[in-house]
Amino acid sequence: MKAIRGATTVEKDEAENIKQRVKELLTEIKNANNLNEDNMIFILFSNTADIRSFYPAKAAREAGFFSCALYSSLEPEIENSLNRCIRVMVLADISTEPKHIYLHNAAALRKDLTAHINIAVDGPAGSGKSTVSELIAKRLNILHLDTGATYRAVALACKKYKIDFSDEHQVRANIDKFNIEIKYLNNKQSTMLDKIDVSDMIRTPEMSLAASTVSAYKCVRDKMVELQRKFASSNSCILDGRDIGSNVLPDAQFKFFLTASAEIRSKRRMAENQTKNINQPFDIVLADIMLRDKQDSMRKFAPLVCADDAIKIDTSDMGIDEVADKILKIIQEKV
Ligand code: C5P
Repeated sequence: MKAIRGATTVEKDEAENIKQRVKELLTEIKNANNLNEDNMIFILFSNTADIRSFYPAKAAREAGFFSCALYSSLEPEIENSLNRCIRVMVLADISTEPKHIYLHNAAALRKDLTAHINIAVDGPAGSGKSTVSELIAKRLNILHLDTGATYRAVALACKKYKIDFSDEHQVRANIDKFNIEIKYLNNKQSTMLDKIDVSDMIRTPEMSLAASTVSAYKCVRDKMVELQRKFASSNSCILDGRDIGSNVLPDAQFKFFLTASAEIRSKRRMAENQTKNINQPFDIVLADIMLRDKQDSMRKFAPLVCADDAIKIDTSDMGIDEVADKILKIIQEKV
């Protein structure tokens, strides 16, 4: 069972206004969380003491929410609290992350949920940026775009169409036929090539190196950066990559750059590979990581670089949760 939170305000303490705003709030919560008569269990309202004309619970009943228990209560008068505010908690039998809804003047209560937010996380391979970004996205209820996956998809497309990925001319001549899309199911990213989910197929050491090579080509970067920017302009999201803060989203509200020693990163990558039954000796993984670092940092277009205004975090001696907590604290202090 999950608790979905929400709030709204009314312009006047009048029955019609209360009914309309309660209906609007519950409808948005219902649609955003795929709720129905069977999975809604309990709706609990509280409202500020300046609302006296109508019970929100009764408004919910009148709006058609019959199947679950409803309850309204009055909040104490608290100095500087919002005026004419109705808060709600919906208990629902869902397995997805709850989407909380804050409308009208109540949007100010949760700026982290209502504002359009873009977070850039950059760093070299194995710095922990993807795992950390995924955790942060979950905690802030926003989407996570692993931009490396888009370059990996280009590398896989080269393999599929028998194009030599190390020949820039061949890649440029064929790039327009690569149909790469990003989809989300339950907030989890799927990378699609020609409508097929290739999220697992792109995670091999072969694709890692090929992605590093093709990502240096201008034609590839132009196309992928366009896809990434479009995504960021229409979604609150966290993007991880190499050039997000410096090139893709120079105006992102938050920028972080994660680092760790090449040895630590190689150990992490080895452990990650082992969970996928990819067993490579340490020396090979380290050599791959160092080659990718070199290719990514020395390329002409949008190299791996820490943006001037990014917050640098050395994750060598930190656990993933620790890094995520640190970043979340910085974000929550500002929004
Ligand atoms: O992050 P990941 O290891 O999946 O990225 C694969 C490759 O894609 C990187 O080595 C890098 O060359 C490239 N990349 C990039 N710019 C990004 C993300 C990834 O050039 N924003």
